[in-house]
Amino acid sequence: MSLSKKILCILLPVLIAMVVVSFFALWRYVLPVFVQLEREDAITNFERVAARFQEDIEDLDLQNKDWGAWDATYSFIQGENPDYIAGNLGVNSFRNGQFDFLFYFDEAQHLYWHGIYDQNEDMLVYDAAFVQEVVDRLEHKLGEQRLNLFSRDTHYMGFVLLEGKPIVYSIRPILTSREEGPSKGFLLRGRYIDTNLIADFIRQTHVRFEIKPVEGSLATGHTELMVKELNEDTLVVSRYVYSYGVPIMLVESYFPRNISLQGKVAIQTALFTSILLGSLMLVALWFTLRKIVLEPVSRLTDNASAITETKDYKQRTEIMSSDEIGELSRQLNNMLDVIENREASLEHVLDKLKTLSMTDSLTQIPNRLKFDSVSELEWRRMLRENQPLSIIMCDADYFKQYNDHYGHVEGDECLVAIAKVLYESVARPADLVARYGGEEFVILLPSTDVEGARYLAQTILEKISSLQIPHEKSQVSPHVTVSAGIASAVPSSENSLRQLILDADKALYQAKKNGRNTLATN
Ligand code: GH3
Ligand code: MG
Ligand code: MG
Repeated sequence: MSLSKKILCILLPVLIAMVVVSFFALWRYVLPVFVQLEREDAITNFERVAARFQEDIEDLDLQNKDWGAWDATYSFIQGENPDYIAGNLGVNSFRNGQFDFLFYFDEAQHLYWHGIYDQNEDMLVYDAAFVQEVVDRLEHKLGEQRLNLFSRDTHYMGFVLLEGKPIVYSIRPILTSREEGPSKGFLLRGRYIDTNLIADFIRQTHVRFEIKPVEGSLATGHTELMVKELNEDTLVVSRYVYSYGVPIMLVESYFPRNISLQGKVAIQTALFTSILLGSLMLVALWFTLRKIVLEPVSRLTDNASAITETKDYKQRTEIMSSDEIGELSRQLNNMLDVIENREASLEHVLDKLKTLSMTDSLTQIPNRLKFDSVSELEWRRMLRENQPLSIIMCDADYFKQYNDHYGHVEGDECLVAIAKVLYESVARPADLVARYGGEEFVILLPSTDVEGARYLAQTILEKISSLQIPHEKSQVSPHVTVSAGIASAVPSSENSLRQLILDADKALYQAKKNGRNTLATN
């Protein structure tokens, strides 16, 4: 697997894992915080509605208290204040005081006076049936009030359901203005919680809510606040309002779920941002890696494989950066320096070896191996140039006897001397003198015809003779002599190098036969 794929295989799962983990964390831990905040906010707002109701009932109760603890009322209930009704119990008092009914009970607990406000007609009505209904409903409290008739502190207030409509009410004893007794009766004052009142509350609290009358004991036991998610957009907070242990109405508020909605948007934004940032980082990392690592490494690889293919160890890698890859490149170049030096010295050794392998160790002139390879080349060259190639075969005469008589060391020295003469006798660069084997030498003469070869052979014979190396056992001369066989040919498809050598050999044999210290031509 390539380096880039490996990196991608690591980075991609890391990015996916990051996104999954952050999504899980946000959804599991952050969103519930928003939901909780939203519930708390809804509850706080709901409490404002509850507080507003409480305020309302307290207002009504305070008003009732003011009226109850008043000398004018105190004397009125005892039948001593005939102007009281005209002065205080007109329709204006109901409208401005914002209450819907007011009952006066005397000391004997009999209804002394009652007024009911008809909002539609803006007038007071006297409805005995309605009074009876209220009295029945509040029977329990009124009974208690009667028992505590003389207690100036006793008062009641609360909610009650009347003909399916919720009402706030207050019961206060009738006292003197100094709030002193004995109490001469009590006042019962009530107000409908109608749509106008609710609209007022909504305006004041900015909380949308509804009042739902509850008949029976269906919801008994639910005294706590209830928070319910109506749907994705709305949260409902509700609480039952009780009267004498019986639920009489349900106050229900609706809150738009803005906070959790904002939370979701925030989470989505955060997720989207992290995915975007992660992807950007991945792309940036990818390009950085490509620029800094992958591209230099692949250039280095190309350099190295080019060097390996061409085997040109003089080449160097190109990366010169100051990082680890640059260092690797420098180390590779150092290695190439070493290889290049080794290569050079190896070539030198090989050259030396080659020279050695083609040089005769005794006479230090080229050996037969060299002759074989050069003669092949020269044969082909002469074939191309249509030039003659001549060969002279030289052989020392009666050399076995020389060795036997003078010893091998002397024999060797003699061979060295002969080789020297032969070597110095040839003039052209292409001429080659080689030791063919034993006491036998060969001279290769490119672009030389038989006459030239004969001339050179004759010169050599004379030069060897003139060395005057004593040879007592020679039957042809008192000195060392050689015989020479000459062959010459212009290379063509009809002859061959092998044949030319054989011919030279035959000529040498002929020279030997002719008495030695002479030359013969084939
Ligand atoms: P011919 O005149 O017919 O050439 O007789 P020859 O004795 O020279 O020929 P032969 O082939 O019978 O003997 C060659 C001798 O050359 C044998 C050996 O003693 C001698 N010889 C060959 N190589 C060397 C060498 O490297 N060193 C020495 N000292 N002698 C050698
Ligand atoms: Mg011989
Ligand atoms: Mg010989």
